[in-house]
Amino acid sequence: MDGKREEISLGKAGWNFDNSYSRLPQVFFSKINPTPVRLPKLIVLNEPLAVSLGLDVQALRSAAGVATLAGNRIPPGAVPLAQAYAGHQFGHFTMLGDGRALLLGEQITPRGERSDIQLKGSGQTPYSRRGDGRAAVGPMLREYIISEAMHALGIATTRSLAVVATGEAVLRDTEQPGAVLTRVAASHLRVGTFQYAATWGTPAELSALADYTIQRHFPFIAAEENRYLLLLQEVIRRQAALIAAWQLVGFIHGVMNTDNMALAGETIDYGPCAFMDVYDPKTVFSSIDTQGRYAYENQPDIAGWNLARFAEALLPLLHAERPQAIRLAQQAIERFPSQFQQHWLAGMRAKLGIFNQETEDETLIQDLLGMMKKWRADYTHTFRSLSLNRPGGDALSGSEDFSLWHERWQARLGRQKETKEASQQLMQQSSPERIPRNHRVEEALEAAVQQGDYSVMERLLQALARPFVHLPEYAEYADIPPTSNRPYRTFCGT
Ligand code: AMP
Ligand code: MG
Repeated sequence: MDGKREEISLGKAGWNFDNSYSRLPQVFFSKINPTPVRLPKLIVLNEPLAVSLGLDVQALRSAAGVATLAGNRIPPGAVPLAQAYAGHQFGHFTMLGDGRALLLGEQITPRGERSDIQLKGSGQTPYSRRGDGRAAVGPMLREYIISEAMHALGIATTRSLAVVATGEAVLRDTEQPGAVLTRVAASHLRVGTFQYAATWGTPAELSALADYTIQRHFPFIAAEENRYLLLLQEVIRRQAALIAAWQLVGFIHGVMNTDNMALAGETIDYGPCAFMDVYDPKTVFSSIDTQGRYAYENQPDIAGWNLARFAEALLPLLHAERPQAIRLAQQAIERFPSQFQQHWLAGMRAKLGIFNQETEDETLIQDLLGMMKKWRADYTHTFRSLSLNRPGGDALSGSEDFSLWHERWQARLGRQKETKEASQQLMQQSSPERIPRNHRVEEALEAAVQQGDYSVMERLLQALARPFVHLPEYAEYADIPPTSNRPYRTFCGT
């Protein structure tokens, strides 16, 4: 393709960037271009997402389009920059920043919304420390699959527009094919961005960041006198809803460091995350989480801890008198556990087909979870079976405990005005038939990385796109995985 035609198809792609982040004080980023890659090749493009962003699918698939998704060409209007941030990693505070990602800008969608467009794996930046700035095909496809599955499950998340193979090898444990992922997010503002501002910025820089965050995500509080306290409260509210949504589907993030908590309330940073099969609150998949800090059952508490770090960073803005600022922050933080609990309880009631509220509901739920743990029941399968009113065919459903519980549950459903059919419908809308099960994700990644066969992944993506709809043709994705005596392990930052 000659230069002129490339320019035309780049222009046609529909990029409509603004770069409000680049207008923040200089300390918050470093302008830097992506490092070009040898031989970009499109592996997967998210066409519905492209369309919703106002992008032209054909133009993105063209050589010029793929070159932009690889970082070899800068689309019109983009101002590539690496964001500066800090974070508590496993409890230890450190300076971080985009070490292998670049923000191209904010795409203004046809609906007038702003979406960050970020290339992940686009080369080294001033924040790379000892990293190579690159990413491998396997982990980027993993992020693509799981983030899109989360979106289909109705959970707030960053999304994946494309994965492009770079034609270059990256060195991990072994040599791996390299890739660049295009990540789409409400923004990449994190708890860690505020920690960075509070630790190394001036008070004016901190308030500029807070005002920017408010403009971007909470414009309805911008005119309020106590807007920074409201900002804290809004961020807490969104996290309460998000973490409850994770717990309800058995999603384990795996690396809930403060730099991986997005202020917009989206799930971000799909590294060692995975869905739980067997219900065990202590489940951990991440190879580096040896203490179980980010185990399933700890996620709500860790979110609260991270939010306390956010509140700390905001202290200078909450009140001129520090003791008063601390008091306000504490009051806001203390509301997190009950907000989480409300979302979780509402979600669990829906999973059990319960419309109204009784004080005993929580006991009913906890008793079920207790039995699921005891009988090592599959989390997703158990709830889906309940929603179909079909015995699960496992040790749990054959147990005496379970039949007693089942009677209590049926009696409970009898104490509401809604019909059994309405209950069942609510349950099926609340408990997915298909989640990205670890063995299926691994199978798709293995075919992609070892054989360059993307068909297994394509089929998996299809199966996960409508997780609540009963689709017999995708039955194998609903099956409980074969029992393995090897624990499933996931990895960070690969
Ligand atoms: P994560 O565990 O993905 O949240 O990453 C933690 C930090 O390490 C972030 O600052 C990343 O940008 C950085 N990082 C991860 N992988 C690489 C890499 N291959 N090269 C440079 N920086 C990296
Ligand atoms: Mg991160």
